[in-house]
Amino acid sequence: MLNIVIFGAPGAGKGTQADLLAEKYDLLHISTGDLLRQEVAKGSPLGQRAQAIMNRGDLVGDDIVVQLLAQALRGVAGGEGQEPSEYRGCIVDGFPRTVAQAQTLEFLFSKLRLSIDAIIAIDVPRDELVRRIHERAAISGRADDTEEVIRHRIELYDEQTRPVLDYYRVSGRLVTVDGSEQIADTNTRICKVMDVLLRGGKR
Ligand code: ADP
Repeated sequence: MLNIVIFGAPGAGKGTQADLLAEKYDLLHISTGDLLRQEVAKGSPLGQRAQAIMNRGDLVGDDIVVQLLAQALRGVAGGEGQEPSEYRGCIVDGFPRTVAQAQTLEFLFSKLRLSIDAIIAIDVPRDELVRRIHERAAISGRADDTEEVIRHRIELYDEQTRPVLDYYRVSGRLVTVDGSEQIADTNTRICKVMDVLLRGGKR
């Protein structure tokens, strides 16, 4: 079993890379952004609470996000009385966004008797991030892809999310890859890391 977190600023390409890895390595892709957008689309009470917060580019409360994540993680563990999972592990994308969330993630994994094997951080220079988000904004139709909201999301990343890197660095599970080039280049770099992890080797 291989469980990884894919990490990066908005626009770093986490979702794109996570999709490619999930397909190649039979991993369950758990994206908290996607889980939240599904709730918004369903119009569930939880989605209704999350919608305005997401549109402002703020972080949705842990009570909501953790509930969705915990439910999704059960899909990878199999669970008591359930069929064994069809996946070889999972790739978590969009979580943790704060150090407190990183601690919660450790707790959720340990409850399922699982562990996080590595955090793969995609490193992209600031100018390139801004360029990509604007490009995506033109086609995504996402309510949180406007100029002001994008700026706010990047600010929040710097203040609250970037410290998560240090949290994982001290535990020796952080691997950083250059994500400044094309999707396929980043994918090649990440796959090299994955192959080493799957062989159980040291990085
Ligand atoms: P991006 O990484 O491009 O900003 P995501 O799809 O990961 O986009 O997230 C979109 C929005 O969903 C975030 O701006 C935030 O409002 C909410 N969200 C996603 N994950 C979390 C999380 N772990 N904690 C709090 N809010 C979250």
